[in-house]
Amino acid sequence: MTNLMVKVRVKLVSWDEIVDWTRRLANIIEESGWRPDVIIAVARGGYVPARLLCDFLDVTDLISIQSQHWVEAARMAEKAILRYPYKVDLTELNALLVDDIVDTGESLILARDYIVKEWRPKELRIAAMQWISPVAKIKPDYYLIEVKEWVWFQYPWTRLEDISQFITRIFREDERVKGREVEEEELKQLFIEWYGIHPHEVREYWDLALKKLTAKQILVKTSKGYKLGK
Ligand code: ADP
Repeated sequence: MTNLMVKVRVKLVSWDEIVDWTRRLANIIEESGWRPDVIIAVARGGYVPARLLCDFLDVTDLISIQSQHWVEAARMAEKAILRYPYKVDLTELNALLVDDIVDTGESLILARDYIVKEWRPKELRIAAMQWISPVAKIKPDYYLIEVKEWVWFQYPWTRLEDISQFITRIFREDERVKGREVEEEELKQLFIEWYGIHPHEVREYWDLALKKLTAKQILVKTSKGYKLGK
C-alpha cells in the first residue's frame, strides 16, 4: 500500500474492492437481523456503496442527502452544511444512512441529526465501508474495516479529482520545485515520493489530470514540462 517515507498515506482502491467490501458489509447488516426499508446515500461519497448495498440487501428505495464540509475563509473554521435540505416522511420506516468512510464524521453527524429530526424514521442506523476510529466523532452501527492509522482512501469515483489535487499539492508545497518548471519524469518521481503510488497505477487519469489542470490554468505547460499557473 504505502511505505513510511511518503508524505500522504494513500490506499488506491479498485472497483473490485468496492464491490467486495459492500458485499461483505451487506452480509454484516443481514446477519444483525435488522433490515432497512430505505437506504439514504450521503452525497457524494456514499452514492456507490449505497447503490451496491441496495442490490445486495434487496432494497428498492434509495434516496440521498448532501452533506459537505466547507472551509469558512474568513474564520478558517471548518463547518459541515447540508446543501439541499428537503423534507420527506420516513415514519414507520427503518432507514440506513450510508457513506463511504467515517473520517471525522462531522458531515455524517449533521446528516444524521437532520434526518432524525426532520424525516423521523422509525429507526436510523449508519453504515460505512471504513471507520477511522482514532479521529472519528461517531462510530457507525455497521462498518467493514476499522482504520487505526489515518490514510487517504483513493476511491475510484474521485480518481480524477484526487490525482489533480495530489499533483497541485506537489507544485504548491514542495520546496524543491517552488517557482520553477518541472519535467514530467521528475513530477512522476515526486508523485511516487509523496503518495507512495505510481502514476502507472492510475494510468489514463494521470494524463487527464494534467490536461484538466492545464485547461484550468492551475498549471502551465512549458517547453520542458509544467509550472504552477495561478
Ligand atoms: P468531514 O466531514 O470532516 O469531511 P467525514 O468523515 O464526514 O469528514 O467525511 C466526509 C467525506 O469526505 C467522506 O464521506 C469521504 O467521501 C471524504 N473523505 C474524508 N476522509 C477521507 C479519507 N481518509 N479517505 C477518503 N475519503 C475521505
